[in-house]
Amino acid sequence: MHHLISGAAGFIGSHLCDRLLADGHTVVALDNLITGSRKNLEHLAGNRNFQFLEYDVTRTIDVDGPFHHVWHLASLASPKDYLAHPIETLESGSTATRNMLEVARRYGARFLLTSTSECYGDPHVHPQPETYWGNVNPVGVRSCYDESKRYAEAMTMAYHREYGVRTNIARIFNTYGPRMALKDGRVVPAFLDSALRGEPLTVYGDGSQTRSFCYVSDMVDGLVRLAASEERYPVNLGNPAELTILEFAEWTRKFMGSDVEIVFEPLPQDDPQRRRPDISKAKRVLDWAPKVKLEDGLRETVEYFRTLVPVR
Ligand code: UDP
Repeated sequence: MHHLISGAAGFIGSHLCDRLLADGHTVVALDNLITGSRKNLEHLAGNRNFQFLEYDVTRTIDVDGPFHHVWHLASLASPKDYLAHPIETLESGSTATRNMLEVARRYGARFLLTSTSECYGDPHVHPQPETYWGNVNPVGVRSCYDESKRYAEAMTMAYHREYGVRTNIARIFNTYGPRMALKDGRVVPAFLDSALRGEPLTVYGDGSQTRSFCYVSDMVDGLVRLAASEERYPVNLGNPAELTILEFAEWTRKFMGSDVEIVFEPLPQDDPQRRRPDISKAKRVLDWAPKVKLEDGLRETVEYFRTLVPVR
């Protein structure tokens, strides 16, 4: 089958390209490279089932189909990046989602939106099931991401209801693995980068906030299963193993055999206090649950970052 993927040079997008090509499909990959990197796709150069186009999907999309599947992954995804580019972030959730939905509609293709656990904001329900409507600050600094993804979900449902497009919505929780940008500010690359350099790990707030980390191969498997399903409402994809950020900092030090200091800085505005996916729906509907343990996923991730960081 023929696939169109936006955000294909990003972290998850590039792994999705690999998976679809390995499964025998052909892929047209779009990315404006605002945070994605050609390097993430350079191993695919010369693959005749793969084509990369530097393309801004917030503009009208003029690529030759037909496609069987349209995947909209394009977005700034790290708080550091979306706080630096709030308008581009809003556009990737709004205009770009509509543009990609139009391509799906034009060709009668299936459509998958990668949405986010940020739709739940700073949640009052824990763990978060898909039925929870969330607690989002609509005018806070993170709203450019949270609200554009909520809009993207609403637009996706509208295309399904209005035009019968066969849509899926994945709510992705924190995901990590090789090809994350080393300097994108997210906690996994930030801690590994510091530990590899022998520098202190910076914990924001008192470190009591929690996250749950899913390895990228598990995430991509969940996305592929969801894209083949008839589930139209959002499905959480993430690893329910929850730990505090301070525990994760201590864990990282131990894992890296490092004795670097842990230092504390103020908590960013609207930083969610607790986050853990309720994945009962993904288990039931997709027969999916993450398989990769944190230590195994981190080992692969550290291997990758070692190639980028001059190790002390
Ligand atoms: N965080 C931290 N130190 C860092 C980067 C992040 O303590 O160097 C914290 C951040 O405040 C948040 C959690 O780690 O509570 C996860 O942050 P990340 O940016 O990875 O993603 P988020 O889940 O907030 O989107």
